[in-house]
Amino acid sequence: MPKVYVRVHDRLTTMIALLVAGMHRMDLKSGSPFWMLKNAQAAFHPPLHVDHRCDVLIVGAGITGALITRSLVEAGIGVCLVDRRQVAWGSTSASTALLQYEIDVELQALARKFGIGDAVLAYRSCEQAVKNVAALAKNLRGVDVRSMQSLYFSSHWYHDRRVRREGELRKQHGFALDSLDNAALQARFGLDAGAGLLSTVAAEVDPVQLTRAILDMAKRKGVEIFERTSVEEIVATSRSATVMLGNGKRIRCKHLIIAAGYESERFLTQRVARNRSSYAFVTDPIEGGAGCLERCLVWESARPYLYARSTADHRLLIGGEDDAIDIPLKRDASVSRKAETLQKKFSERFPRISLNVAFSWAGTFAETKDGLPFFGAHEQHGPRVHFAMAYGGNGITYSAIGAEIIRDRLLGKQHPCAELFSFARLRH
Ligand SMILES: Cc1cc2nc3c(=O)[nH]c(=O)nc-3n(C[C@H](O)[C@H](O)[C@H](O)COP(=O)(O)OP(=O)(O)OC[C@H]3O[C@@H](n4cnc5c(N)ncnc54)[C@H](O)[C@@H]3O)c2cc1C
Repeated sequence: MPKVYVRVHDRLTTMIALLVAGMHRMDLKSGSPFWMLKNAQAAFHPPLHVDHRCDVLIVGAGITGALITRSLVEAGIGVCLVDRRQVAWGSTSASTALLQYEIDVELQALARKFGIGDAVLAYRSCEQAVKNVAALAKNLRGVDVRSMQSLYFSSHWYHDRRVRREGELRKQHGFALDSLDNAALQARFGLDAGAGLLSTVAAEVDPVQLTRAILDMAKRKGVEIFERTSVEEIVATSRSATVMLGNGKRIRCKHLIIAAGYESERFLTQRVARNRSSYAFVTDPIEGGAGCLERCLVWESARPYLYARSTADHRLLIGGEDDAIDIPLKRDASVSRKAETLQKKFSERFPRISLNVAFSWAGTFAETKDGLPFFGAHEQHGPRVHFAMAYGGNGITYSAIGAEIIRDRLLGKQHPCAELFSFARLRH
């Protein structure tokens, strides 16, 4: 298609997506997310029916809001949390929850954009965050979490050199990994790919259990949690912030943290990310376990990428096939077809593993232009409103770093990633 038609077509599809999203309240999920079925039974928290005051108000009780709550409570800061749904019932329940330090943008590409110092800082911080989240989950009762290896493989022969270069650069900067050639990939994974990078810092978790466990603990420590309580409007000054709720009540606080996931953007007039739809399915439990993938996450160098992980009850959870834009009605209609495509592509890659689709689903998923998240204040609302937009394929890892950035900011300290993960990036 000539460039000009592509642009017009892109704009038209984006306009239709915005129209559809505007007609409905944002709908984050389609199909049957596995974690929602597995963890259907939950404790309920009441809605807020009166005006309220608190030191720090967090909007959003997904994994991001939970990790921020925990780090603030540990620092001795008083927190109140509201969510317009139930705890962990937003995108967190649709997440496939692979914990990897390798973000969607390769280290070499990130280095070209930000310089090698910042690129390594981002990767190193993610590596530490994966370890921290895994350790936290292991310490909480009733959370399925396992340490894993992670394999990144070349999708096409013409990606082989790039993947090998990526491995060399990471090794040069102290990241522990093994470079695998075709023979090693065939022998260990039955995978016909030209190059692979196998790292040992990775984990998989049940994100709903983790979020609930963190917030149950926070509640025992005095944190107030209000569900089915929607924030509609923010009014902020340089000294405080007030939010207007859907029921006409208001909450006044010294600091407001917007951890509203992919719905955070409604509080910004500036567009800072692009919404996509992402698809996944989970198999029935596999007799004898998931073989070479029982303890290894896999993903590939093509974009959008195919990826897989196991679960504690020996299923495989496979995802990918992202749509370039998120249209909830189209997403609802595509779940089964996308699961079939994912199954076919996975079986072509891993012919030794036979699988059966049990449940499939899809969710909204947002990405920033450079693959990095945004944490911190935006000039539109001033210094008392902090955004926690852990956007990208490594959202949970990012949330863990964001929780530290926001805690440090409230304590008057500067986290090493604060500048790199801030809205200041948009000015360059
Ligand atoms: C299919 C899929 C696969 C993924 N795979 C991975 C993966 O493998 N690894 C990884 O690290 N990440 C992955 N992610 C990303 C990860 O799931 C997200 O980064 C993470 O769940 C976001 O958590 P959150 O708490 O920021 O958002 P959410 O879980 O959506 O929580 C935000 C909460 O805010 C509430 N809220 C929104 N607006 C308001 C309002 N106005 N008032 C009150 N409450 C409000 C919502 O109800 C919601 O509960 C995946 C995402 C998807 C969709």
